[in-house]
Amino acid sequence: MIKQKTGVCIDCDNGKIVPLIAKRCQYHYWKHRDSLKKKKTVEETKSSSPQKDAMMSLWEKSNKKSEISGKNLIKFYHDYITGKENHQFFWCFAHFLSKKTYTKLKCREDGMMLLHPDEHYLIDNMTQKDRELYEKKNNCSFKIFYDKQALRKKEYNIDKKYD
Ligand SMILES: [Zn+2]
Repeated sequence: MIKQKTGVCIDCDNGKIVPLIAKRCQYHYWKHRDSLKKKKTVEETKSSSPQKDAMMSLWEKSNKKSEISGKNLIKFYHDYITGKENHQFFWCFAHFLSKKTYTKLKCREDGMMLLHPDEHYLIDNMTQKDRELYEKKNNCSFKIFYDKQALRKKEYNIDKKYD
């Protein structure tokens, strides 16, 4: 097994040790990749996977707003379908639990939640203190995410709901 490299992301530059891909955290890696990439072809936009299908299905049923802050997410969808930007839209979906460990939740709508990419980034790469600052500034709470995370974990490990 290849051990993933960890360190401080050159774009976050916040001193926090995170898994790295080409010197960047996952968020900044894809952001960087998108900035280099030219416009996507229609073919690429259409390509699907079970995970992407679950995300799109969740998106269709949603009110297109972050469950955490109520922030509107339509512009990310627009940028995605017009091929302007690919990365941010998929950061509007956060899995409650590690996709590697909790594999059966990876492609399930109830295994993920709709939120603003900044909020996803705060969950993945930042500290509790950073999240509290954001909560104060935006009058919102990350509790809904962590409550659902705890519930899914219990359902997965104790209730064996997804077997
Ligand atoms: Zn980063």
